[in-house]
Amino acid sequence: MSFLHHLKFLPSTLLSLSLNHEFSRSFTLRLPATPFRILCAAKRTGKQRYPSEKKKLKLKLKLKLKQKDTLKVAGNKFHGFWRLFKLAVPVCKDPGKDFLGVSDGLLEEIAKVLEFPVASMLPAEAFSVVRKSFDARKIMKEPKFVYTVDMDASKLVELEPRTWDFINRLEPANGLVEHMLHRKCSGDLINIISDCNKVHDSTLLRESAGTGSSGSVGQYKNYSGAKPKIAVVGSGPSGLFASFVLAELGADVTLFERGQAVEQRGRDIGALAVRRILQLESNFCFGEGGAGTWSDGKLVTRIGRNSESVLAVLNTLVHFGAPESILVDGKPHLGTDRLVPLLRNFRQHLLHHGVTIKFGSRVDDLLIENGKLIGLKASDVSDRSPINYQNYKYDAIILAVGHSARDVYQMLLSHNLELIPKDFAVGLRVEHPQELINYIQYSKFSSEVQRGRGKVPVADYKVAKYVRVNDVNASTNLGIGRSSYSFCMCPGGQVVLTSTNPSELCVNGMSFSRRASKWANAALVVTVSGKDFEALNCHGPLAGVDFQRELERKAAIMGGGNFIVPVQRVTDFIGKKTSVTDIPSSSYRLGVRAANLHDLFPSHITEALQRSISMFDEELPGFVTKEALLHGVETRTSAPIQIPRDAETYESTSLSGLYPVGEGAGYAGGIVSAAVDGMYAGFAVAKSFNLFLGDVESILGRAHSMSVVNY
Ligand SMILES: Cc1cc2nc3c(=O)[nH]c(=O)nc-3n(C[C@H](O)[C@H](O)[C@H](O)COP(=O)(O)OP(=O)(O)OC[C@H]3O[C@@H](n4cnc5c(N)ncnc54)[C@H](O)[C@@H]3O)c2cc1C
Repeated sequence: MSFLHHLKFLPSTLLSLSLNHEFSRSFTLRLPATPFRILCAAKRTGKQRYPSEKKKLKLKLKLKLKQKDTLKVAGNKFHGFWRLFKLAVPVCKDPGKDFLGVSDGLLEEIAKVLEFPVASMLPAEAFSVVRKSFDARKIMKEPKFVYTVDMDASKLVELEPRTWDFINRLEPANGLVEHMLHRKCSGDLINIISDCNKVHDSTLLRESAGTGSSGSVGQYKNYSGAKPKIAVVGSGPSGLFASFVLAELGADVTLFERGQAVEQRGRDIGALAVRRILQLESNFCFGEGGAGTWSDGKLVTRIGRNSESVLAVLNTLVHFGAPESILVDGKPHLGTDRLVPLLRNFRQHLLHHGVTIKFGSRVDDLLIENGKLIGLKASDVSDRSPINYQNYKYDAIILAVGHSARDVYQMLLSHNLELIPKDFAVGLRVEHPQELINYIQYSKFSSEVQRGRGKVPVADYKVAKYVRVNDVNASTNLGIGRSSYSFCMCPGGQVVLTSTNPSELCVNGMSFSRRASKWANAALVVTVSGKDFEALNCHGPLAGVDFQRELERKAAIMGGGNFIVPVQRVTDFIGKKTSVTDIPSSSYRLGVRAANLHDLFPSHITEALQRSISMFDEELPGFVTKEALLHGVETRTSAPIQIPRDAETYESTSLSGLYPVGEGAGYAGGIVSAAVDGMYAGFAVAKSFNLFLGDVESILGRAHSMSVVNY
């Protein structure tokens, strides 16, 4: 008799016990009288299974298949990517700033978000780091690396099926967890334009088929075969990106640059640093790559780090040799040593695409006929004869001359072009020992910096305050409040001379990729506007330029000439005392001289600077110290004018055929924003010549317009 047959006689309550329960263990059924011990058989397989067991197994399989289907089809949670934000990994658990992969420490943080119990079981391959920053703010208990990570849900389940339940339970949380069916996959400009060209070609083919004409791919409607001739003036980021877009879209581009190619420019800058020879056309402001070539190469920008346009620029820089880390690093920077080879590659690409590049060729004038721009007049800077210029005819001219081309502003004014004075900022460049800044920012973790070779980044800072000055001058109202902020901070960098004229002196900062020098410098500036210019007797559209010049000349005199920079200890500047005895050493190579920098500016500006510096010390205790040295003067923070242009076409509102772009025209304030502006301008000009038929905003998003904002 079978065992089941015996069970028929058991009370029904006991029979309700599942016989298919777990098997190879024994359990006891208590009968009213004598205990009845049942020994379960070993697990049945195959044909030995009971029908109920088979049914249950079928159900289980069905569920498994359904789950698989859910992953395959539109089971949202298992489709696409989950973006996990603010994953904070303590320094001790992170491999350090240069590691951009998925570490065990990061897996631990991911496991916490997923509520997955064993972090080490999570396969690193299912995750990719989108952003890595270092957060040493005082509100944190300890400094941490903060990550944004993308999780490929289907890959994760495939590699570790036990995560299924956890992903299934995962819910989006504002600012912390986000689900995306598709990841933004931004390419470089070469790919973007190649896609545009495909659309363009197929449109032309369709059109020629419709009209029955024999128009072939690549023909231009307005030019019946001839390419539009476009001149780009200036090879800074805006001019380079504009040239790039136009050349890729098929224009005949000539790039005029008053300065030299990076190889010669490097030698000219070397001669300046060693022999005090300032080449008027090849220096820290003029030459291939523009003002940002001998710089810190910070690629931070306020126009939206994750925007398509910024990503397109960064990806293009990677294409030309920038490290991929700039796509992930929270505060990407290149450093001069990386910028120089990158620009060489950029140049080769432009030449390869038919761009004519004229280095040492300064554009002196515009050729205008019947109110329309028809060309330009350019001269060879090495030829000192009085008549060395040449006239060139162009269909359009992109003016990308930067903020130091004061002669160009003057020339535009002589043609009655509208120039609008614009607010900007002036101040001084402060330099501290880098170790002090490391300590202020990181305290005990400062030992991890190790001059750029350690685990944590060389410390930087950014401070901003709104200051009100008491001594209100009733007639000018110059005692009004103004913004004061640090700007262009160069950790592990050096102070450099950015004058473009020997009788004017102004400074800025640069650094190499490692940021290994023993100094940290930054501009400390306050905003200035029309009333400040008037108070120094500077009037008209170029009042801001005159105001800059006035301060630069005064700084040159204070320094005593020969590019010697006037300096003052921060403590003495605040106390209005001369720093007479043993001033701290400076990274500035051409020499410094103690001076009363508090007399350099009108009193209301000095007072605003003094106040704000004291306020910065509240945020960064130790910032005001005898060791901190102020250098004069910082004037070229952004352009002092704006050249009005049409928001759609980028064409000047006062001269048809002219396209003002970049920082010099008042539409950018740093390397990335200038490159983005040049890129949009390139598309706009291409569109006006039918080289581009699409809608750039659908590819790169809406263009941002910048004015006072730096970077
Ligand atoms: C020392 C220094 C450090 C900096 N560090 C950073 C940084 O770390 N990060 C950042 O984002 N920004 C930095 N900047 C600012 C940044 O360099 C500029 O915002 C950016 O280069 C502006 O780009 P642009 O193309 O508009 O103009 P520019 O880069 O100024 O380029 C203009 C070009 O036009 C040429 N030109 C001018 N007039 C004529 C003419 N008549 N004929 C032919 N050519 C002409 C010039 O020689 C120049 O090469 C720094 C600037 C300096 C000076």
